[in-house]
Amino acid sequence: MLDFPVILWFRQDLRLQDNPAYHAALESGSPILPVFILDDDNAGLWKRGAASRWWLYHSLSSLNKSLNGTLAIFRGDATKIIPELVEAACAHAVFWNRCYEPWRIARDSKIKTALEQSSIAVKSSNASLLYEPWTVSKDDGTPYKVFTPFFRKGCLGRGEPPVPLGLPHHVPTFFPRLKQSLHIDDLDLLPSIKWDKGFHDIWTPGEHGARERLGQFLDHGLKGYKEGRNHPDRENVSRLSPHLHFGEISPRTAWHAVRHAMEADPTIETDGDCFLSELGWREFSYSLLYTHPDLPTQPLQHKFAGFPWDKNDKALRAWQMGKTGYPIVDAGMRQLWQTGWMHNRVRMIVASFLIKDLMLPWTAGEEWFWDTLVDADLANNAASWQWVAGCGADAAPYFRIFNPVTQGTKFDPDGNYIRTFVPELAALPAKYIHEPWTAPANVLKQAGVEMGKTYPMPIVDHKAARDHALAVFKGL
Ligand code: FAD
Repeated sequence: MLDFPVILWFRQDLRLQDNPAYHAALESGSPILPVFILDDDNAGLWKRGAASRWWLYHSLSSLNKSLNGTLAIFRGDATKIIPELVEAACAHAVFWNRCYEPWRIARDSKIKTALEQSSIAVKSSNASLLYEPWTVSKDDGTPYKVFTPFFRKGCLGRGEPPVPLGLPHHVPTFFPRLKQSLHIDDLDLLPSIKWDKGFHDIWTPGEHGARERLGQFLDHGLKGYKEGRNHPDRENVSRLSPHLHFGEISPRTAWHAVRHAMEADPTIETDGDCFLSELGWREFSYSLLYTHPDLPTQPLQHKFAGFPWDKNDKALRAWQMGKTGYPIVDAGMRQLWQTGWMHNRVRMIVASFLIKDLMLPWTAGEEWFWDTLVDADLANNAASWQWVAGCGADAAPYFRIFNPVTQGTKFDPDGNYIRTFVPELAALPAKYIHEPWTAPANVLKQAGVEMGKTYPMPIVDHKAARDHALAVFKGL
């Protein structure tokens, strides 16, 4: 006969290592009922997109395996499901790790109040941030608006982030899976049309895959990260973003692993510092979302509220499909479509192109990324789009308009990245690959390129678009 259980509610923390809610549940000494709820009912606009659903399917499968198949799965409104589960299983406590999306904060506080009113203990912990957003503020108590003081003084001024928790001392007893639990397949997470072929070659969702990815990065990517992270054809970035988003690995684990590597090899100090500050940008995004819950829909700088954006479905479609006629933009958008991920440098280029060359609203790009990125993350996505648009905190100034040709030439000088994702241009010499419309007819012919047929002509003239954007932005 099992004792009354406690519920361990998994959300954005799909791992067992360095999982404080799991530790706390174990310490209760009661059997653990592990639960996941696909709660699209409360997510509003921010239901998971298609690529995220693909990831979630595989990540849940991996977690369920680690839990010996005991993960109880539900779909629907968590404010109803959690109290029902407590009653059905006679649970006496619920443990979870905190989430920071405004809709989740509102939902969780509702659940907490209801449970506590019924004398059920609730314990929440921090599993996904280095520093809780409410603990990082300026001396006068207001939130930071500029990254460097936020990170240097607000975060690091508090000391190094806590070290990850070791493996739990207790051996878990899992409560038998409830019979009303669904199977992962019942969640309809996988696409009906098979666009996910390219994903399997690149990604291994789940805790094990996350640790492997970190190991590869430490061995092969970290050295040279500072410079190499700008080059989309190099292996210098970690690609940890979806693993971090789904909580398959904690930022504390990544942080301290890099710190150890820096201690072992002083020549990578600047590379390591640069990586740690990228984790700092993630913290900054979460802080912005926490202090500005409407960050995903409203510009932080109010003067941008009435901005005269264009409406041009044809141009938006060309951008989404990677058919703008600018090879670096098209390579990025196709990398996104084929792999569910895009290199950071190229994210900045394609975002600048959408906003400043096409004059389309940043929210249109944010929504497309939300649907197509495996690392789609409300805080990072919204903060980054606002940064590129120039309407966010500590944002790129509006007059910084990336030239897609010079960006390509600088960061993909041999065109290797373009050749991978825009194969119809693969045979062009590097000299022309960033602006194929300037190539002489015989060069195009030899490379099998017919402008306007095998590859589109540019859908806008960058120089004219830039002048127009500057004039409009200046008018704000
Ligand atoms: P690395 O360079 O290895 O960095 C390590 C980690 O630091 C990343 O995994 C990520 O968690 C964090 N990080 C790195 N750069 C940033 C940044 N600029 N802002 C916040 N955190 C950062 N990142 C997301 O995780 N989800 C998104 O939805 C997202 N949307 C973006 C949209 C736009 C328009 C832009 C310009 C950037 C966006 N980013 C987003 C930030 C960044 O591009 C990705 O985090 C990064 O490319 C992920 O690759 P990586 O793990 O190899 O990064």
